[in-house]
Amino acid sequence: MAVSLPATGHEVLRDPRTNKGTAFSSHERASLGLEGLLPPVPSTLEHQVARIYNELDNVESDLGRYLLLSDLQSRNETLFYAVLMSDPARFMPIVYTPTVGEACQKFDHIFRSARGLYLPITASGNIEQWLSHWPVDNVRFIVVTDGERILGLGDLGVGGMGIPIGKLALYTCCAGVPPELCLPITLDVGTENGELLEDPLYLGLRQRRTRGQDYMAFIDEFVLAVQKRWPGACIQWEDFANFNAVPILATYRDRICTYNDDIQGTAAVALAGLYAALRITKGKLTQQTFLFLGAGSAATGIAELIAQAMVPEGLDIKEARRRTILYDVGGLVTNARQDLTDFQKPFAIDHPPVASFARAVRQFRPTGIIGVSTVPHLFDQEVIEAMAAINERPIIFPYSNPTSRSECTAQEAYLWSDGRAVFASGSPFPPLDVEGRHFVPGQGNNVYIFPAMGMAILATQASRVTDSMFIVAAKAIAEQVRDEHLAMGLIYPPQSSILEASLHAAFRIAEHIYDLGLAGNDRPADIAASISSMAFKPVYGNAP
Ligand code: NAD
Repeated sequence: MAVSLPATGHEVLRDPRTNKGTAFSSHERASLGLEGLLPPVPSTLEHQVARIYNELDNVESDLGRYLLLSDLQSRNETLFYAVLMSDPARFMPIVYTPTVGEACQKFDHIFRSARGLYLPITASGNIEQWLSHWPVDNVRFIVVTDGERILGLGDLGVGGMGIPIGKLALYTCCAGVPPELCLPITLDVGTENGELLEDPLYLGLRQRRTRGQDYMAFIDEFVLAVQKRWPGACIQWEDFANFNAVPILATYRDRICTYNDDIQGTAAVALAGLYAALRITKGKLTQQTFLFLGAGSAATGIAELIAQAMVPEGLDIKEARRRTILYDVGGLVTNARQDLTDFQKPFAIDHPPVASFARAVRQFRPTGIIGVSTVPHLFDQEVIEAMAAINERPIIFPYSNPTSRSECTAQEAYLWSDGRAVFASGSPFPPLDVEGRHFVPGQGNNVYIFPAMGMAILATQASRVTDSMFIVAAKAIAEQVRDEHLAMGLIYPPQSSILEASLHAAFRIAEHIYDLGLAGNDRPADIAASISSMAFKPVYGNAP
C-alpha cells in the first residue's frame, strides 16, 4: 500500500512500514541514498516470500517460527503480511493459537522488541499523556487485554500482550484491516501468578492485581483517554476474566464503539455453524431445540445469541430462550435450583431434575447438542446414538477446547451416528474417512467473525456494536459455505479462503450498520467495492 517515506535511506530501512529490504529498486536506492546499505541486486517481493519460507522450513519448533515471523513484523510489515496472507491456514496457528499461548507464557524470556502500548496501573492519572507517546494520530482499532485469562492458560500478567498483537495480525491477514490503523494495548494491573511474581525476568508490575473500584476507575480513565486521543476508535476487549469482561462490556457497549470477542464473537461463530448446519438439515432456526452441555459463559453467550436470532423469525424472547436448554455439572438448569447465577437464570425452565445428559436428550429431543463443558468424552456413544435415533441429521457440536477436552471426537460422532452427524468442534480435527465416506470437520473458530467485524466497523465508522451485527455476521459466514463443502460435512468456509469470506461478511455487516443508522459516514453506492478498496494489500508502495 502507498506510504510516504521518511527522509534518509537509513531511516527508511529501519521503519517496518516503509522498509522493502532487498526489494528496493535501483532507482529507489539511488534516490533514497540506500546504495551500499543493501546487497546490490534487487529482489522481488515473491523472492523475499520464498526466502522466508526457506528460513521457516529450517526452524524446528512452532515457537521458533513464531519468533522468526515476529522479527519479520518488526522489520518489514509488508513482507510479514505477504507471507501470512500467502497461506493463512498455515500461518494462523503460528502467529495466533495455539503457538501464541506458548509465546505469552514465555514472554519475559523471549522478549525482543516492543510493539504496542503498555499501560500500568501505576500510571493512573496520566493515561492521557501516555497515549500521546504513540506516534500515530489515526488509530481506529484497539485490541486490549489485562492478561488475566489468556486463552485457557490463566493469568499471564503483562505476557498477555502476545494476544492483542497476534489477534490484530489476524484482523489484517483475514479481513485486510489496515495495520497502521491498529494498536495493541496491555493494561498491567498486576498479576496473581506467583511464578511470574518470583521470576527475576518478569517484565510486568510485581504486585497482586488491583480489583474493585480502583480497577474500574483505571478502565474508565483508559476509555476516556482513548476517546480523547482517538475519538471513534473501536475498543475490543480481549481475554479479561469473565467477572471483569461482563461488567466492562455492559458499562461501555451503549456509550462507545466496543465489543468483546470472547463473549460476542464466540456466540456468533457457533450461530454461523448452526445456520450452515440448517442448510443440511433443512430446518428453520425457530424449529430447533438445542441442548447445551455446560452452562458457563460460552453456553449462556451462545444460547442468548441463538435466542436473539429467533426473535426476528417470529418467537418472543422468552419462548426463544426455552429452545436453548442448559445442562451443567449440577444437572438440568431449572428454576428450582438455588445455585444459578444471574446470567443462567433466563434459561432456567420449570422441570423435574433429569438424571443424565443422555436422558435429557431423550426427553427434550433436541435437534442439536452443543458441548461447552470443558470435560472430554461426555458426548458418549449413548448420547450420540440417542441423537441419531431422534434426528435424521443430528447436529453435534463439541466446542470445548483444546482437542483433549472435546466432548467427543469427529470419528466418534460420525461412527455412532452412521455418518449422519452434522459436526463442528472448537478445536480442529483432521479430515477422516468413516465407513467409506470422506469427512472434513469444521472448526468453530472466532476468526470467522472478528476480522470481518473489525473491517465493517472501520469501513462504516460505526458508533456502536450491536448483537444484531453479530447475527448478520453469522449468517454471512454461513452463506459462504459452498454446497460441496456441506457435502463433506464442512460447515465453515475453508480457512484457505478466509479473506474472501471475511470481506463478504464485512460487506453484510456494513450494510446492516448503514441500515441501523449507526454509521459515521455516508453509505457508498457500492459498499462491497468500497470495503475491498480499503482493504490492506501486502504489496509495496511507490517510493517518492
Ligand atoms: P465455564 O467454566 O464458564 O463453563 C463450563 C461449564 O461446564 C459450567 O457450566 C460447568 O458446570 C459445566 N460442566 C463442568 N463439568 C461438567 C460435567 N461433568 N457435566 C456437565 N457440565 C459440566 O467455561 P466456558 O468459558 O463457558 O468455556 C467452556 C468451553 O467452551 C471451554 O472448553 C472453551 O474452550 C470452549 N469454548 C470454545 C469456543 C470456540 O470454539 N469458539 C469459544 C468459547 C469457549
